[in-house]
Order: sequence, then structure tokens, then C-alpha cells
Amino acid sequence: MGSNKTIVWFRRDLRIEDNPALAASARDGSVFPIFIWCPQEEGQFYPGRVSRWWLKQSLAHLGHSLKSLGAELVLIKTHSTLAALLDCINAIGATRVVFNHLYDPVSLVRDHSIKEKLVELGISVQSYNGDLLYEPWEIYNGSGQAFTTFDSYWDKCLHMQMEPVSHLPPWRLLATAGKVEKCSVEELNLEDETEKSSNSLLGRGWSPGWSNADKALAEFVEHHLIDYSKNRLKVGVNSSSLLSPYLHFGELSVRKVFQCVRMKQLLWAKEGNSIGKESVTLFLRSIGLREYSRYLCFNFPFTHERSLLSNLKYFPWDVNQAHFKAWRQGRTGYPLVDAGMRELWATGWIHNRIRVIVSSFAVKVLLLPWRWGMKYFWDTLLDADLESDILGWQYISGSLPDGHELERLDSPEIQGSKFDPEGEYVRHWLPELARMPTEWIHHPWDAPLTVLKAAGVELGQNYPKPIIELDLARERLTEAIFKMWEMEAAARASISGGTSEVVVDNTDGNENLAIPKAMLKEKAPCPTISSNDQKVPTIQNPKNSPAHKKRSKYVEEERPHRDKLHKVNGIEGTSRTDEDLCSTAESSASKKQTTSRFSFSVPQYCPSSESQPLHECESSDLKQPLQVQTDRVYSSSEDDAMGT
Ligand SMILES: Cc1cc2nc3c(=O)[nH]c(=O)nc-3n(C[C@H](O)[C@H](O)[C@H](O)COP(=O)(O)OP(=O)(O)OC[C@H]3O[C@@H](n4cnc5c(N)ncnc54)[C@H](O)[C@@H]3O)c2cc1C
Repeated sequence: MGSNKTIVWFRRDLRIEDNPALAASARDGSVFPIFIWCPQEEGQFYPGRVSRWWLKQSLAHLGHSLKSLGAELVLIKTHSTLAALLDCINAIGATRVVFNHLYDPVSLVRDHSIKEKLVELGISVQSYNGDLLYEPWEIYNGSGQAFTTFDSYWDKCLHMQMEPVSHLPPWRLLATAGKVEKCSVEELNLEDETEKSSNSLLGRGWSPGWSNADKALAEFVEHHLIDYSKNRLKVGVNSSSLLSPYLHFGELSVRKVFQCVRMKQLLWAKEGNSIGKESVTLFLRSIGLREYSRYLCFNFPFTHERSLLSNLKYFPWDVNQAHFKAWRQGRTGYPLVDAGMRELWATGWIHNRIRVIVSSFAVKVLLLPWRWGMKYFWDTLLDADLESDILGWQYISGSLPDGHELERLDSPEIQGSKFDPEGEYVRHWLPELARMPTEWIHHPWDAPLTVLKAAGVELGQNYPKPIIELDLARERLTEAIFKMWEMEAAARASISGGTSEVVVDNTDGNENLAIPKAMLKEKAPCPTISSNDQKVPTIQNPKNSPAHKKRSKYVEEERPHRDKLHKVNGIEGTSRTDEDLCSTAESSASKKQTTSRFSFSVPQYCPSSESQPLHECESSDLKQPLQVQTDRVYSSSEDDAMGT
């Protein structure tokens, strides 16, 4: 055993097993495990109530496990992560700091900056892949560009020569001591007094903590994986793995999930079990989507503020706070949407299918800005995960080359009969409709008065009338899309006519925009480069862009000149020189400022007082170094890339 004194900085890797940072430190001397809670640095991505509840339980669980191995988990509440790290380094005379990588846009910037500062001070820093099967910088196409469609990305992952390898857990830890300002898990104040009674309900359904994650995985793989292909689209039953919060907090190693599932795959292949084989393929695809969410955030680190395709820059959103409120409260008059939103509020979790339905409703029926919905999900989901949330909202709002088309508007009534055929899900979450016959439960507005009366339903009284008629919503959506095209064409004409001018982006100028804007020095030398070290994203090379073809049938029929408009936007792949890998997440920083009438903030609904308004930055796309050049090709598949 070496003589290093290593600080193990836990973040979203709250487990003992297959934790590469912990394993490396345990091999090499004594350890000082810490968790730093710095609400100020979380800014607008300060976690919501249920997410903080989970974190609190999980930290307590990890603390017990580390103690049984011989080391204490030191909890620190601070105003500056860097200052807290430096205090610890001084207190124990640490020679090294280790941690596992995170890929969300906020952490990418913060971690890189901390790493640079520590290295400047002569502290050795090592970071590891604790969250993914493959690092985002390991997967590129033949010409070194980032993939922008899931299928091509996942295909490449599945054909990688190297299988992901797990790390053995330490069987004992040699602790090192030091006097630092630590606190108890209670003193972290992750849970307000007023939140405790609602939170106690969460404990009935969920057991956070890494050893519970292991049990949940074993239970799923042994008993439910086989039926995943059949059940995964059913809502209201435990049809999927329910592993997302464990995976988000790193209580479960994704490599372990992958290996357990692969074992079953081999077994079922040997037995010729085709249902099992299909279930494994589909489940691994879901795991792949999680990987892809990190991949997109790393390679296109601006996607938390604007759409990947830049297509929504001119979309005339309806900034209607009353509609936003009705959506949040489950009072839209569309039963499946309302049931989903009430389940989300009550339990902190909803099925993927319901996430797609409620998010599509917000964007396409209510025309609410997708970033409002994204932020609301962030505040209310137990598994709130910035990368997956961004991927989900971009996917439904026509912002991804292989996502839903913006013009696709599914009827919640038809979806109700498809995914909740007996109406049980709606009855459970909307007791006011409990007595409605199945035939009408997903569209009570069509039911004869006698039926409504017999069921005790009075539309507009004890259950709302539809917030907007679906036919009208379709018209509004079509109009909005046409308007968007017109604006886009006008902007393009003004640029090609030489009247382009640099204007100021008032979203960037907003002091309250809490995502750290202070990006790192351009092309800074990499402080620590090793084979497993964290890379940082770079701006992309505007030349050699891959063409992502996706043509809308609707678009072709209705607007023959539509292609011309879209040709001007394109997604660039990455050019990966060594120098690039040393540069950093520049999207927000390098964004030139523009003004736009489409700039707006998320209304202040958040239960957490520390949440800040989230600003819509589609307007800044014009000035971005990443120019999008994409033809949209229509794909009408019902079950598409994101498993919907
Ligand atoms: C608008 C929208 C917002 C979303 N926000 C989040 C979020 O904040 N956090 C989150 O973890 N997931 C999010 N998802 C993805 C997905 O809905 C959940 O991961 C899934 O429902 C979790 O349930 P499960 O663990 O039973 O999934 P399973 O179907 O059992 O899948 C296993 C794991 O694969 C991953 N996964 C599955 N589907 C997806 C997907 N579409 N995108 C990314 N990862 C996926 C999850 O880690 C999941 O735990 C969102 C989807 C949409 C459409």
C-alpha cells in the first residue's frame, strides 16, 4: 500500500462497489472521503424537494457503509466547493484529490476550473469514469465527428472492442484524520421542516442507498427483465426497472447493470428464448439513452439553454402563466395528462410514456416553452437528471434529428385508450372521474350528459373542461410553425442581404441567470492528462459537418420550399485535436449577445426558494459558433428512438 493521503470527493457516485475513484484511493494509502454541499453553486439547478430527500437518505446510507469499512464520510456545507476542498487538503496534508466524472454543463465547467486551480497549487488530481459504459470522447464516427442520432451512436457503442470493466470494491479503508468544519447529514439542511411530512410518504415507496439499489437491480433482472419488451409501454404498473433515481445518484454502477443483463442475454440466447433476447436488447437501449444524454451534453454543452437543431429559435411560444399553472396542477381537462401531472407531484416519479405525453402536451398543445417544462421536471422528479431531462424535452419538441417532429401532435384521448385501456391509471389519480365508464374516461367532454351525471362529473365544476380544444390546438400549432418559418426566412434574408448586425442578448446580461457563465480560459493547457482523465468539450469545427437527414412529409406537402430554409442550419461534429480536448465548455461563454422578443424567464412556481428564473436562449443561436445545417427527413415510426 502506498503512502498517499487521498481526498475522495463523492458527488453523484454514492456507492462502494465499482467506484473507480474510491478503489484507486484505497489501493494507494489512506483516504479522507468527503461530500461537499454548496447550494449557491447549484444556482437554478438547485435540486427539488424529492431529489434532496433522496440525497439525504443516500448520504446517510453511504456514511454507514464507509464507517463499516473503517473511514468516516465527512459532510461539509459551504459557500465555495474549492475553498472547502482546500481546507480539507490543508487539514490532512493531502497529496491527492480523486473524483468520478460528471457531464452536465454546470459540473463540466466547475470541475475543470477546480482541477486547474488545484494543479496550480501542486496538488495531484485524478478523475475517473464512474458513471458511463463509455466516455463521451471515446465514441466518434469515422471522420472524428460526434454522432447526432441515437441509433448510430448506440450501434457504435455496441461494436466497441473493449467491454466495460468493473472495479473491485475495497474490503477495508485506511482512514486519515484532520480537523475540518464538518456537519451532520441533518445539518446539511437538505430537507426543510415543512417538507418532512410530505417526504415521509416517499419512504413508503422508495428505499434510497447503494445496497438497496443492488437489491432493486437483482429483483428486476431476476423477475421482470424477461417481460420488459412486453410491459415497458404499460403505464400504472411496475413495467420498467424503476432504477432511474439509483442510477442518477450513482448508487448503482451502470457497468454492473450492463454485466448482469448481459449474463441473462447469454443464458436466454443459449435457451433460444426470443422474448428474453428482445427484452435485453430493449433494456440495453434504455441504458444507451442515458449514455447518449451525457454524450450530447458533453459534445453540445449548450443544450440546457437552446435546442440542438436551433430550430426553435423563432418559435412563437405562448408565454401563458395560467396555462403553465393548469398544466402543473393537473387541471388541463385532459385526463391522462392531468393524472400524470398529479402522480408526478405526489410521488416524484412518472413512467417514460407519461413523461412523453405530458411534455408533448405542454409544448404542442399549450405552446409553452420547453425549458419551462424541463425546469419543472427538474424540480419535481426523484430522478431529476439534467442530461436525461434535456434529452427528453429536446426529443419531444422537434429539437433532435431523430426525435418527434414538432408538428406531430398525438391526441391524449387516443393515447389514453392505448396506454391506459381500462382507465385504471386515470381513476387512481383523478378520483373525481373514478365513476366514469371506461368508454368515456379519456374524453369526458364527449360523454352524454346522462353518463356524466350518473358518474357525478360536472365539467367545469368538479373536473375542468378541456383547456383548449384539440382541433384549435392543431391549428395554433400549425400557425406557430408557419410563423417560425417566416421569421427564420426573414432573418436569413436579412443576413444574406448584408444587414446582419450584432445585437445584445439580454438573457446573458441577466445577473440572475445562475448557470455559471464564467467559462474557462480558451485553449488552456490541460493540467492533468492521463488515459482515464476527464476531457472537456470544445466548440465544434464548422467545416465538414455531417448531414443529418430528416425530411418531414408534412413539410414537403405543405411547404415545398421548406428544405431551403432548413439547409441553412446544421449540426457540426467535433474536431478532436489534443488542443480541443484541453479547452472547455464554451457554449455559454462564447455566446455573443443578441436581443430577442422571445427571451423570457420561467415563472416563479418553484417550491424551492433558491430556484432562479430560467431564461430562454433560443434567440442567441444566430451568434453561436455551432451552425446547424440539417435537412429534416420525416420518419413516422410510432415507437422510435427514445423508446416511446
Ligand atoms: C420529457 C422527459 C424528461 C425526462 N427526464 C428524466 C430525468 O430527469 N431523469 C431520468 O433519469 N430520466 C428522465 N427521462 C427518461 C425516462 O423517462 C426515465 O429514465 C425512465 O422513465 C425511468 O424509469 P425506469 O428506471 O423504470 O426506466 P427503464 O425503462 O427501466 O430504463 C432503465 C434506465 O435507462 C435509462 N433511461 C430509460 N429511458 C431513458 C430515456 N428516454 N432517456 C434517458 N435515460 C433513459 C434510465 O436511467 C433508466 O433508469 C425523461 C424522459 C422524458 C420524455
